[in-house]
Amino acid sequence: MTPEEFIFEYLRADQDTGAGSHETMVGVIKALDWTEVKSYILELKYFYFLRTSYWLIISQEIKRRSNWKCACGCRENLQVHHTDEGNQHHGEEHLLIGLVCLCRKCHQNLHGIPIKLAEKRRQRSNRKEEILAQIPFGPSRISEASISGSSFSLTRKLLGEMESERKVWIERPLYDDWQINRLS
Ligand SMILES: [Zn+2]
Ligand SMILES: [Zn+2]
Repeated sequence: MTPEEFIFEYLRADQDTGAGSHETMVGVIKALDWTEVKSYILELKYFYFLRTSYWLIISQEIKRRSNWKCACGCRENLQVHHTDEGNQHHGEEHLLIGLVCLCRKCHQNLHGIPIKLAEKRRQRSNRKEEILAQIPFGPSRISEASISGSSFSLTRKLLGEMESERKVWIERPLYDDWQINRLS
């Protein structure tokens, strides 16, 4: 298998591959140049990464090795957490370094904020990046109406936040669309 084939096979979100075994996947990985695949993974939005077959196979394996149990004994709503060491190995999770099986409650406690909220924040910041990517650098600007990808009200809200973060500068003509200038 080539790195491209591996990416096609294991690194698209929400594929129904029937998630093969970890052992099989590691066998495949051993036979290919991982550096290319790793740099691909590092480019993925984390939220997207968590929905790939690659991660599903690995997280299943971690749960299996933990006997389908959190450290607190709970067996429900199991999730796999990246420790700091695990984060350092992002892009090579199949080595199973720094990944631990936790129930949702312990996982949330560990992060200090509910995971759902963290995910929401991540999605919001991804959305802002997508908006920013549509705004040209330099003297040209873009009208708010031509920004695509989210509802008008959400785009407006995010643009407001980005203005206070000093990423954009907004001209608000009285009877016209907002004009968005990029600052950073
Ligand atoms: Zn975590
Ligand atoms: Zn627990």
